Amino acid sequence: MATIKIGWNLDNSYANLPKTFFSKQNPRRVHSPELVILNEPLAEYLGLNSESLRSNDGISIFAGNEIPEGSIPIAQAYAGHQFGYFNMLGDGRAILLGEQITPRGKKLDIQLKGSGRTPYSRGGDGRAALAPMLREYIISEAMHALGIPTTRSLAVVTTGESVIREKELQGAILTRVAASHIRVATFQYASKYGNVEELRTLADYTLKRHFSDGESSELPYLFLLKEVIKRQASLIAKWQLVGFIHGVMNTDNMAISGETIDYGPCAFMDTYDPSTVFSSIDKQGRYAYGNQPPIGEWNLARFAETLLPLLDDDHNKAVKLAQDALSNFEGLYNNSWLNGMRAKLGIFNEDPQDESLIQVLLSIMHKYNADYTNTFRALTLDKLSDMDLFDTIHFKNWYELWKRRLSSQQESKERVHELMKSSNPTVIPRNHRVEEALEAAEKGDYSIMEKLLDVLSKPYEHSKKQDEYAELPPKSTCGYRTFCGT
Ligand code: AMP
Ligand code: MG
Repeated sequence: MATIKIGWNLDNSYANLPKTFFSKQNPRRVHSPELVILNEPLAEYLGLNSESLRSNDGISIFAGNEIPEGSIPIAQAYAGHQFGYFNMLGDGRAILLGEQITPRGKKLDIQLKGSGRTPYSRGGDGRAALAPMLREYIISEAMHALGIPTTRSLAVVTTGESVIREKELQGAILTRVAASHIRVATFQYASKYGNVEELRTLADYTLKRHFSDGESSELPYLFLLKEVIKRQASLIAKWQLVGFIHGVMNTDNMAISGETIDYGPCAFMDTYDPSTVFSSIDKQGRYAYGNQPPIGEWNLARFAETLLPLLDDDHNKAVKLAQDALSNFEGLYNNSWLNGMRAKLGIFNEDPQDESLIQVLLSIMHKYNADYTNTFRALTLDKLSDMDLFDTIHFKNWYELWKRRLSSQQESKERVHELMKSSNPTVIPRNHRVEEALEAAEKGDYSIMEKLLDVLSKPYEHSKKQDEYAELPPKSTCGYRTFCGT
């Protein structure tokens, strides 16, 4: 028995919403759980004691065999567009234990993923396998370290049971921490299956939880729509800037809070190519790197549609308000992206020519198959070797223009270098590194994953260790594929 209390301080505000929004559901027991990894800094932030979390009591909670003090476990209902087609969904293998109030007064969802069947499981087994849960752990924590809003990962346990996919795999459960799990698809569910009062209750709850400045606004639901648009425009720009490909931007995988959520077939792009797709199920390239901004806008249009009855009693007026709000997405996105790109190139002020300077660089990176992350890293370090791109006349011409642009601003070389260093990661979770860590983990060796996590936690450092992880795989990973059947 742990002598020190774990430190749960759970609220269950979501479970107090109308019953249409969830089903009470305990996690299903598992046979013999073992802790694979615990995120101690995150535990501390949550006000949870790591030593107690490592004890049998803690592991039983991560496994779903015990319910933490103060928890009302639920599965959340949602319904949304998957690859453009509307489906009834919901937490088919996840259980929300409640909302932990942190020592600093933040409220964060604690969710078990892979914890057994629920009323929303449809044909699924409610379970998850070890490698995909560790993949989510690694990539979500890498995103956090890169400074990108994301759900976090607190722990992974193995269940001691197998799950059947293409082959027999070790079962596992991830404990996910999120600002909330309210999705565009939660609103779609309320709009399709609830009445207007239920929809309003959800919108009010969301305002209170994430956009409290809007509660006293004259048009609170328009405020909500505009803020969600702003956050998504900023989030997707951040993805583009680091070469992150979500892989499955269905409306159930878009969080209203503006956090990146649901790390299924996601991956980071190596060679710069806007048509890059890793997911084996994305046959049409709907969620390719270059399509992420317009798909984000498409999802937001689905969100706006759900809010129409709340925006104005006059349907036409409501549509006009929604359209005006949506029309801001492109400008907001472009601004965030452009400013982020300026920072990656050490540019502090604005010049109308900047966009073309950036586009020329990207087009020659594409032409010469340059690695996205390493091109910006090389520019940051001013080490222009090792890449074919740098020997080309196209690049040399561009380089002159760029240097001229830098000398047109007041900032010193040191400041330019500092800005570039803090805007261009040395390490991203390269596909071959992630795979190598997962393969070893499946055999019970977690050391490679731990080393990788350590390096990924400081992506903007330029130590020897970091540099080693910037190296590309010996063979190109062009054919790299990620799988959703997790
Ligand atoms: P995802 O692809 O993870 O966004 O999941 C899409 C939907 O399928 C969600 O409603 C999930 O809860 C559900 N789902 C995914 N895997 C399983 C599973 N193994 N068992 C039951 N439901 C699942
Ligand atoms: Mg999902």
